[in-house]
Amino acid sequence: MNIVVLTGAGISAESGIPVFRGADGLWEGHRFEDVATPEGFEANPALVHRFYNERRRFLLDDVEPNAAHRALAKLEERLNGKLVVVTQNIDNLHERAGSKSVLHMHGELLKSRCTSCGDVVRCWEDTGTGSRCDVCGETGTLRPHVVWFGEMPFHLHEIGLAIRDADLFVAIGTSGRVYPAAGFVTMAREGGARTLELNLETADTSGVFDESRRGPAGRLVPAWVSEVLGGDRNPH
Ligand code: NAD
Repeated sequence: MNIVVLTGAGISAESGIPVFRGADGLWEGHRFEDVATPEGFEANPALVHRFYNERRRFLLDDVEPNAAHRALAKLEERLNGKLVVVTQNIDNLHERAGSKSVLHMHGELLKSRCTSCGDVVRCWEDTGTGSRCDVCGETGTLRPHVVWFGEMPFHLHEIGLAIRDADLFVAIGTSGRVYPAAGFVTMAREGGARTLELNLETADTSGVFDESRRGPAGRLVPAWVSEVLGGDRNPH
């Protein structure tokens, strides 16, 4: 069986990373236009660097993968078939839990990109408007390697191929508000896959899924993984 799992901010919520839009409509106290758009970066690059520096430090110092991340890594290891995790998250919690096949469609907090030479490098330190690109030597050209609103997500071709080959498509902890990810469930259905949603609350795309289960990812995902592995006749 081939499975594609789409994850969103909800899978990392129990690790302590807040989801995108809190009750106040803000992302960690900021308007998303200010910290998650190319226009916001152009208007105030120092603020945007500071915002991602804070997120990066928190991720490295205070956050661990939870039971849902670990269950997906176990599924990948034991599944008689292929599992691809497509994540909208910019954290590295899937990898830290042991997942190998992860596509970060919205980029990664632990990478930065030079807007002059285009090089993408590992980034575990703070960056700022005076940071220098180690590859081309230019100063002030680094930006977070994350996809902002209005920019093209990464790996779309590969994701399309994985969804085309999927027997089962599962969305975990995503609100279904951000496209193109919100449209993947329809692509999966058109390709003949069964579709399952695991989410705390009803999401914008919930009605499109064959089945929806409500609850925290830390409980729902391990239970679902046990079901799949229990029914898999040829576990490794
Ligand atoms: P979202 O914040 O719009 O929606 C989160 C969804 O998760 C909601 O439907 C909510 O009901 C559900 N949820 C909350 N807690 C949950 C739990 N414990 N278990 C299961 N479900 C839970 O997130 P999104 O759909 O991923 O879109 C937001 C964008 O924000 C993404 O593009 C992402 O790049 C970015 N983002 C990433 C992170 C991260 O890397 N961890 C965190 C916040 C935002």
